[in-house]
Amino acid sequence: MSRSRSKEGATPDADYGWRWGEVVEGSRNNVKCKFCEIIVTGGITRLEEHLAVEKGNVKGCENVFAEVRKKIVEQLKEYHKEKGKAEEERIIRGKNMIRRP
Ligand SMILES: [Zn+2]
Repeated sequence: MSRSRSKEGATPDADYGWRWGEVVEGSRNNVKCKFCEIIVTGGITRLEEHLAVEKGNVKGCENVFAEVRKKIVEQLKEYHKEKGKAEEERIIRGKNMIRRP
């Protein structure tokens, strides 16, 4: 049972996400979805968003099991709660930057 995963610990619940993702060789930020084999860039959090079929950041997974999706959605909720507004502000700022000339 050898699986390659980073010990980055970007999210407290990354372990669950890693069950459904596989690190793509060459870049640890690229994770391959085990359900649909799409490669998600941006790490395990992005993969979890992909599995949760969250709107916005990533394309949602079409093959994810309903059970898995439910669990991931729950975990992402927790994660966002803990992370607070920091991430949100970063995204908003990013959008503003794009809008600016
Ligand atoms: Zn997928």
